[in-house]
Amino acid sequence: MSVLELARAEIRELIPYVPAPLPQDRDTVLLNANESSWPPPGDDGLDCHRYPPPQPAALLAVLSELYGVDSRRVLITRGSDEAIDLLVRVFCRAGQDAIAIQPPTFGMYAMSAQIQGAGIVSAPLRADFTLDVDAVLGAMTDAVTIVFVCSPNNPSGRAVALADIERLATALRTRAVLVIDEAYVEFAEAPSATALLARHEHVVVLRTLSKAWAMAGARLGCVLAQPQVVALLRKVMPPYPLPRPCVDLALRALSPGGREQTRARIALVRSERERMSLALSALPTVRAVVPSQANFLAVRFADIEDARRRLRDARIMVRDFPDDDALGDALRITIGMAAENDRVLAALAPTRGFRVVDVAERRS
Ligand SMILES: *Cc1c(COP(=O)(O)O)cnc(C)c1O
Repeated sequence: MSVLELARAEIRELIPYVPAPLPQDRDTVLLNANESSWPPPGDDGLDCHRYPPPQPAALLAVLSELYGVDSRRVLITRGSDEAIDLLVRVFCRAGQDAIAIQPPTFGMYAMSAQIQGAGIVSAPLRADFTLDVDAVLGAMTDAVTIVFVCSPNNPSGRAVALADIERLATALRTRAVLVIDEAYVEFAEAPSATALLARHEHVVVLRTLSKAWAMAGARLGCVLAQPQVVALLRKVMPPYPLPRPCVDLALRALSPGGREQTRARIALVRSERERMSLALSALPTVRAVVPSQANFLAVRFADIEDARRRLRDARIMVRDFPDDDALGDALRITIGMAAENDRVLAALAPTRGFRVVDVAERRS
C-alpha cells in the first residue's frame, strides 16, 4: 500500500488551482492577475505589486541544500504550524480518522485535529519524558492515519533517538504517516530524521526557520516528504502563500554570512543552556531540570506558586502548565541572552530577606 492511500480520497482526486503563470521575460506585459502595475510606496525593489511565486525557486534551492534533501521533497509553508494543519487536513477524514500524540507535547497537533474533526489517540511519554515506542504502537488503532513525534520535544526538551524513530517508522509502514517535528533539532546533538526519508515513503519531517534561525516573525517552515505527499499538501494550500518580504528576509538570513551568525548563536544558546541547567539545579527551590536538547529548559519547582510569583515580580515571562498532570509543577524557560538568563537566576535565588520571613513564618 502506498502512503497516498492514507490520504482523503477527495483530496487525491482534487484538481489543483492553477496559479497565474510567471512572466517569461522582462518584456512581457502582465495584465492577467488584476495586480497593480505600480509597486507600492516603500517597495524597495521587492515587486510586492505582483503575486509571489507559489514556491520561490531560490528559497527552495537554499533549503534543499541546507537540509540535504532533494528540492522535489521540500514544501515551504507558513511556519510548521501550517504544515501540521495541511497534514491533518489531507490525511484525516472528519469524524473518522485520528492522529496519535505523546503528551505532554506541542499543542498544535491536537488543535489542528480538533479543528478538522479528527480524533486524538494519546500514548503519554514516560515520567522522565522519554518516548515509549511500544506504548505508541500499543495505542495505535485503525483510525490513526498520522503519528506526530516531536523531537526534541516541546515542552520537555528531550530528543528521541534516531533508532527509536526508525523502529516506529518500520512498524507504522502502510498503517500511518509518521511526522517528525524537528522545530528544535538545530540545538540538539541528535541527528535529523531526514536520513529516513529515502527509506520510508510514509515519513515526513517538519523544519522551521522560527527557532534557531530567529525568524518566528517571518512565518516560514517546511515539510520534507516524498514528492507525491508534497503535491497532495500543495493542493490544499492557498495558491500564493509566501509573502515576498518574508522570502527575501529568509534568503538573506540563509546567506553564508547569515549562516555563520546563526551557527554562533546556536553555540551560544547551547552553552547558556548548560550554564542555566547547572545554576538552576543548584537552587533550593528547583526540584529538577529536565535534560534538554532544545533552546529551553523544563524546570520543576518545589513551590511552583512561589516560582511563578518571583518571576512575575521580576517581570520575566515564562510558560507554565497549570492544567497539565505531568507538568503542573514545572515552568518552561526559554534560553535567552546571558543577561536575560541572569535575571531568571537572580529572581529565583534565595534572598536573605526571603529566608528570614520563611523561617519566621514556619516558627509561628
Ligand atoms: C514552535 C514550534 C513549532 C511552530 O513553528 P512555526 O514554524 O513557527 O509555526 C512547531 N513545532 C514545535 C514543536 C514548536 O515548538
